[in-house]
Amino acid sequence: MVVDKFSLAGKVALVTGSATGIGRAIAVALAEAGADVACHSRKTGDAADTVETVAKLGRRAIEVSGDMAEVATPQHLIDGVIAEFGRIDILINNAGMIRRAPAVDFTEDDWQAVINVNLSSVFRLSQAAGRKMIEQGSGKIVNIASLLSFQGGITVPAYTASKSAVAGLTKALANEWAKLDINVNAIAPGYIATNNTAALQADETRNRQILERIPAGRWGDPDDIAGAAVFLSAPASDYMNGHILVVDGGWMGR
Ligand code: NAP
Repeated sequence: MVVDKFSLAGKVALVTGSATGIGRAIAVALAEAGADVACHSRKTGDAADTVETVAKLGRRAIEVSGDMAEVATPQHLIDGVIAEFGRIDILINNAGMIRRAPAVDFTEDDWQAVINVNLSSVFRLSQAAGRKMIEQGSGKIVNIASLLSFQGGITVPAYTASKSAVAGLTKALANEWAKLDINVNAIAPGYIATNNTAALQADETRNRQILERIPAGRWGDPDDIAGAAVFLSAPASDYMNGHILVVDGGWMGR
């Protein structure tokens, strides 16, 4: 039955940045589909609510914590997941940040911070999870990209550079690992109402301009991304490799 191919029963997932927003919605959705979930937060305790929600669904849930800006964090997270669950089947690289400033004023610190968290940590974590998945003989990695994996954006040069690179990294890893039954894909969310876009939502002009361009006529909700994440984590997408799945209320088609 095709519906069985969307089941994540018996799978173990790690979702980074799952205390809030899109990551939280994905962690809960993976649990609803049957997965046990390691919920990552920057600070221990921040993902407690997500952990509790996952546990209430009857799944095993733990919190793993660490600053993704630290080089050692990704391996520490994978070690924590393996210590608790003994394996990792699904990695959702969701944690991310944004800094806004015109290119001429953009500071070196902001550039390094965004590239490090949004791109370098995604590579480090994929590498650490990938080693384990290769050993296991299967795995699913889903990177959270952006419309700015395709477009330039406005006064977010480091964010655009990082998310465009995440799209490239998705394809590079997919090319290496597809034959090993490890699927690497990405989701490019449109404009989703979260902390990440609070400044845009609060800016009356930008908010109106954004809404005018979205054919669906509304901001996305984190739950709008959850179905795509379950799909790319499940056997239903076993023949998808290196794909960037846009979930944007029609923005890119306009
Ligand atoms: P969000 O609620 O701000 O979620 C971002 C998460 O990443 C937070 O839990 C945050 O933790 C975590 N994070 C950031 N920097 C971290 C660090 N150095 N170490 C550990 N954790 C860190 O916003 P969101 O919109 O759900 O963002 C999730 C992902 O979707 C991001 O990759 C974002 O770029 C992407 N995205 C969002 C949109 C949108 O419209 N909202 C569109 C396209 C792509 P803290 O709360 O501790 O900072």
